[in-house]
Amino acid sequence: MRKTLEEQKKMRIEYGRKWYAENKQWFKEYYSKNKEKIKTRTLEWRIKNKDKAKEIARRCWQKNKSKTKIRISMWRAKNRSHIAKYEANYRKANRSVIIAKNNHRRAVKNKQTSAEEKASAKEKIANIMMLEKSVCGYCGMEHETKRMHVDHIVPISRGGRHAADNIQIACQRCNTSKGDRMLVDEWMPPIAGGGI
Ligand SMILES: [Zn+2]
Repeated sequence: MRKTLEEQKKMRIEYGRKWYAENKQWFKEYYSKNKEKIKTRTLEWRIKNKDKAKEIARRCWQKNKSKTKIRISMWRAKNRSHIAKYEANYRKANRSVIIAKNNHRRAVKNKQTSAEEKASAKEKIANIMMLEKSVCGYCGMEHETKRMHVDHIVPISRGGRHAADNIQIACQRCNTSKGDRMLVDEWMPPIAGGGI
């Protein structure tokens, strides 16, 4: 019986895998010899097939998430001074952009928050700041209070208010990881089983 297209595709992939396993050494040599050519070709393909490339990258990230995260944090720990220098240069080069962004954020924050709500936020933050150590509301780890971030549970950019009931004290890692995402639906905190 004739094989279906799906079956044929499967067979081709399997054959390719087997071939790769058997010829790994040859493949490695071929790659190192033709590195530049392959790189250019891959880049061209990526530009032409943007959506497909995005989907492959997404699937690859999902599959290797935990491994990649460990690798990144190890690299960051090793290259601390390099990263600090890079970030300082970035801030210097993009000063006006950063200021404009902050001003916009502040304007949005003020627009959607009443004076009472702002006062409640101020009081809550002042109370927390009196403590020497604070517990991150997202991962449950204790840090020096002065190193903590004030996170908006519903992000300001998503209509959240700068009010006591929308504020969570968070460590830098959790706050950066959460970014402008909504809690649970888009970002699961580590205390609830999410990985960062
Ligand atoms: Zn945390």
